[in-house]
Amino acid sequence: MTNCPICNGKVEYNTELTTYTYKSHETQVSQSGEYCLECKEAFLSPKDLKSTRLEIANFKREIDHFLTTDELKRIRKKLHINQQEAASIFGGGIRAFHKYETVEVTQSKPLDILFRLIDSNKISFEDIKNILPQLVKTTFSKI
Ligand SMILES: [Zn+2]
Repeated sequence: MTNCPICNGKVEYNTELTTYTYKSHETQVSQSGEYCLECKEAFLSPKDLKSTRLEIANFKREIDHFLTTDELKRIRKKLHINQQEAASIFGGGIRAFHKYETVEVTQSKPLDILFRLIDSNKISFEDIKNILPQLVKTTFSKI
């Protein structure tokens, strides 16, 4: 794109600090994209949007009181289980934790609460393993 489809002004590829608003909370993200030098309109490709997707999704999670991707991953690693093992214990399908940790999907509120309780040592991982069906226990006997 060389000219703005709105005002015919010159368009340049740039990275601009953009204010993002969610539920009346604001954050600033460095958003790359094509910007019109005249009317300041932004033209963002799917690739441009993808570059800020994780940052924006985690900002929304914080406002909605959900664990961020990094917090979720940290707690899972603390339990010494991989994403597949976590999914077989906590449900959600084989790719569930991959999705939660890459913001394709936000984890359910009950899972979020459970992970917070485990993280603050209010519930032990041993307690959870003890109530798992025998089939899951056998499959992941090394956990
Ligand atoms: Zn323009």
